[in-house]
Amino acid sequence: MNGIGLFGGTFNPLHSGHLQVAEEVKAGFNLEKIYFIPSAVPPHKGTDDLAEAMDRYRMIDAEMSARRGFVVSDVEIHRRGPSYTIDTVRYFKDKLPAATPCFLIMGMDAFLEIDTWKSYQKLFDQVPMIVMTRPLEDAKQTVQSAALEKYIHAHVDARYKYITPSSCFDHPEKHPVHLFPVTPINISSTKIRNRIRRGLSIKEMVPVTVENYIHKKGLYL
Ligand code: ATP
Repeated sequence: MNGIGLFGGTFNPLHSGHLQVAEEVKAGFNLEKIYFIPSAVPPHKGTDDLAEAMDRYRMIDAEMSARRGFVVSDVEIHRRGPSYTIDTVRYFKDKLPAATPCFLIMGMDAFLEIDTWKSYQKLFDQVPMIVMTRPLEDAKQTVQSAALEKYIHAHVDARYKYITPSSCFDHPEKHPVHLFPVTPINISSTKIRNRIRRGLSIKEMVPVTVENYIHKKGLYL
């Protein structure tokens, strides 16, 4: 059975980097669907420049309707208080048929802060993870996986072992952590917000639907 992916973030706003890497993960793991899950109140980011949750949701929704297998979820927006990933994962696990594999997708930057997330240890008991990495030559790949193994051993569990052929950290009881190289795309929402503030074009960095929405609503000025 094809799995589904959970891709959480601030999406302030959704950009072409998010879409490109999600397409690659979807194809690489043969996923049926990826849920984009905008956070209501992100526990780890400032809220200074944060667009309304419903605006961030609508920007994703407008784009998703044109893409097969991508959907937006409002689960974090409708939950009270900070958006904790553990609550979202539990919500989806309850909702989905038990046989449907469910992967949590995140960038390497996010993964390396996972020890600051609420009940993060429990995430490894709940779902396999897909950590998006930069493609590296073999020697650098070895250095990266060694550094990650050190992090996982220090913060999660020392029985995780890196399996080179499958680019995956395996554990006898917990879920695996897959490393998945994606095309490096030098776009971030921060960059986009800064360009808008300076009156610069954001074409090519966001889909047209998002660009139109931002301009129509006067976001990030
Ligand atoms: P900001 O600049 O506001 O921090 P962002 O685009 O970096 O925004 P989020 O919207 O929170 O961050 O991103 C959601 C997820 O997408 C994170 O796991 C992040 O690692 C990943 N991500 C964001 N931009 C890229 C990119 N260009 N390539 C690969 N992954 C990305």
